[in-house]
Amino acid sequence: FDALQSFDPDIAGVLLSELDRIRSGLQLIASENLSSPAVITALGSTLTNKYAEGYPGRRYYGGCAEVDKAENIAIERAKELFGADHANVQPHSGASANQAVYGAFLQPGDTLLAMALPMGGHLTHGAKVSFSGKWFNAVHYGVDKQTEDIDYAEVERLAKEHKPKVILAGGSAIPRLIDFEFFRKLADEIGAIFWVDAAHFIGLVAGKAIPSPVPYADVVTFTTHKVLRGPRSGALVCKAEHAAKLDKAVFPMMQGGPQMHTIAAKAVNFKECATPEYAAYAQQVIDNSQALAKALGDKGIRPTTGGTDTHLSLHDLQGIGVTGAEAEQRADAAGIVLNKNAIPFDPQKPNIASGIRVGTPSVTTQGMGTEQMVTIADLIHRAITQGDGTPEHQVAKDVKAQVTELVTQFPAYPRAK
Ligand code: PLP
Repeated sequence: FDALQSFDPDIAGVLLSELDRIRSGLQLIASENLSSPAVITALGSTLTNKYAEGYPGRRYYGGCAEVDKAENIAIERAKELFGADHANVQPHSGASANQAVYGAFLQPGDTLLAMALPMGGHLTHGAKVSFSGKWFNAVHYGVDKQTEDIDYAEVERLAKEHKPKVILAGGSAIPRLIDFEFFRKLADEIGAIFWVDAAHFIGLVAGKAIPSPVPYADVVTFTTHKVLRGPRSGALVCKAEHAAKLDKAVFPMMQGGPQMHTIAAKAVNFKECATPEYAAYAQQVIDNSQALAKALGDKGIRPTTGGTDTHLSLHDLQGIGVTGAEAEQRADAAGIVLNKNAIPFDPQKPNIASGIRVGTPSVTTQGMGTEQMVTIADLIHRAITQGDGTPEHQVAKDVKAQVTELVTQFPAYPRAK
């Protein structure tokens, strides 16, 4: 760090103030976490220098003996962790992993069945603004009006009507467990590939806190930086029969040289995930999420689907007369970082939204438990119902003081004593 600070104080300053930002607030973005110093050390290593197009033992560059070791370790650990036939650890991100699935199984114009973005899906699941919606024929399912959970009857109806080549389960704002067995049976019935985008919940699977999609799906893509708590990146695991096709789709079809420093960091993260401490963390993430969803619900901030089985909950703010955009800004002014989110059948535009999404990975990594979730729910409620979106407002100041107290007790990246 000294070298960076003396050469480039501007960027060194950003690094320090970002660390300060993380430490001083409550991070409740469901897709974020606090990766470990071991993961960050691997990321900031000389492995960033190495070109290694190809796969271990089959590279297009010399000098790959050491990075081959790192990639082989990452692959073996991923296979072991998820009980998978095959793993590809080269995707640069969740979106890149998803591109590889399109590359492997679909031709432009082919049909995909996936969850709609406003119902909890992801951009790369066929949204019109994404390559996936521009180049492929995406048919979308949503959630049931009553349960607000996946509308399985609609999934079945659309699958039988449109005969998609690929059926996709997973998304960015799904609080409930997904019935993988249902999707597998349906895919078999119509001869489709069953793909799970487990970006959000794969960390809970790694910690054995929720059921795994791996035995059911042809391919499971994921990010490595959400609940999983690794570096910002992606990966996929699949059945043996699809291994060669997916490897070719990652490289050379979609990507060039793999980021070997990030692959080493993924290996470190997979090792962390196999520990008993990690399993306890994964369960605590869910316990905290359920406690937070309930406590917010008790204050009139209704959790959609009535609660959560995972690390995130989605809350309808219409009952308290606040929009998602207002809530995000008011919480932020009080040191609470969360995001506005569309709720199912949202009457508002996406950039306003009627809901918020909250997640517990970061605060759980900091060591907080269910007791702290009740406090956090109270702080959120006060900030978003009484604040005006400016840090100068007295309520924002009062809530911020309590946030400071909480994060002093449960620090992110604790300072060495
Ligand atoms: N898939 C899902 C379900 C996601 O939630 C995300 C990111 O939020 C992605 C894919 C894309 O991941 P990335 O941002 O690493 O490209």
